[in-house]
Amino acid sequence: MLNCLIIGSGISGLSTALALRKAGHAATVYEAYPEPSDGVGGFLTLAVNGFDALETLGLKNAARRLGFSTPRMSMYLGSTGRHLADFNYGGTLPDGTTARTMTRSELYALLRNEAVERGARIEYGKRLQAVEEGSDGVTARFDDDTIASGHLLIGADGLRSAVRPLIAPSSPQPRSIPLLNTGGIVPAGRGPALDVESGRMKMVFGKRCFYCYMPDPDGRIWWFANPLQRSSGNAAELDAPALKNWLTGLVSGDRTPMAAIIEATYGIITRT
Ligand SMILES: Cc1cc2nc3c(=O)[nH]c(=O)nc-3n(C[C@H](O)[C@H](O)[C@H](O)COP(=O)(O)OP(=O)(O)OC[C@H]3O[C@@H](n4cnc5c(N)ncnc54)[C@H](O)[C@@H]3O)c2cc1C
Repeated sequence: MLNCLIIGSGISGLSTALALRKAGHAATVYEAYPEPSDGVGGFLTLAVNGFDALETLGLKNAARRLGFSTPRMSMYLGSTGRHLADFNYGGTLPDGTTARTMTRSELYALLRNEAVERGARIEYGKRLQAVEEGSDGVTARFDDDTIASGHLLIGADGLRSAVRPLIAPSSPQPRSIPLLNTGGIVPAGRGPALDVESGRMKMVFGKRCFYCYMPDPDGRIWWFANPLQRSSGNAAELDAPALKNWLTGLVSGDRTPMAAIIEATYGIITRT
């Protein structure tokens, strides 16, 4: 049995812990944040290859209860309303599983709870600072002046990984591009009538912004938008009413209900 140190308790770190437990190894996850990230983040679509991976971990059926089925997407031009293309989002597995859209938080909670249930340990408030390799394993140093030793260390610490430059110093750095990702979920009964059915994501190349919206079977509307950063000021720092105003202005010339969708959103949930 190996004693494995995993850095980062996001989707990849927790999945890795589950896989190592399944293979009979000890797994401890070290997370920089002081507490679990329940309720944090936006939403994502888990494609069928992701469900295949979860099946290996014995979690496909549990994950099929999260979110709602979104096997189709369509592309449109916002200025004219012209239909450009339809796609299937990765097809359908033999048991009928399709891509599903879910909050990042509910997928995270499933993986975290199962990892703990199956014997993985998670330690919070442990930001990796340095790694030392010895003849019998590896030692991780954290910013709270503690250390942990194991047979191997796995970097699952995201885009700005601390592990990656330690083990692959010449690996490329993340690049910043001037696009904002923002989105929200409109409660049932508050949004406008939509021109798309549940199960299909409507993606629109608007005159001034790319965006997507879709209804879920309960009548809520899930949406995201990718505007270019404003030429003056950082859009990610706008307060919620100002962000809403700015976004509404970007989409109001399009032949879609997007302006009314943004207007009906209580809180804009992601601004990355
Ligand atoms: C807006 C948006 C929409 C997306 N939509 C989709 C989608 O539809 N479908 C899809 O499959 N993917 C989607 N993605 C991508 C997907 O969300 C990410 O690829 C995935 O969440 C990355 O998970 P991760 O565990 O690798 O990293 P992260 O979630 O970034 O987790 C890394 C963890 O490591 C911790 N950490 C960082 N540094 C340290 C350190 N030094 N020491 C200890 N811990 C550390 C962090 O606090 C964090 O908890 C989307 C991403 C965004 C931003």
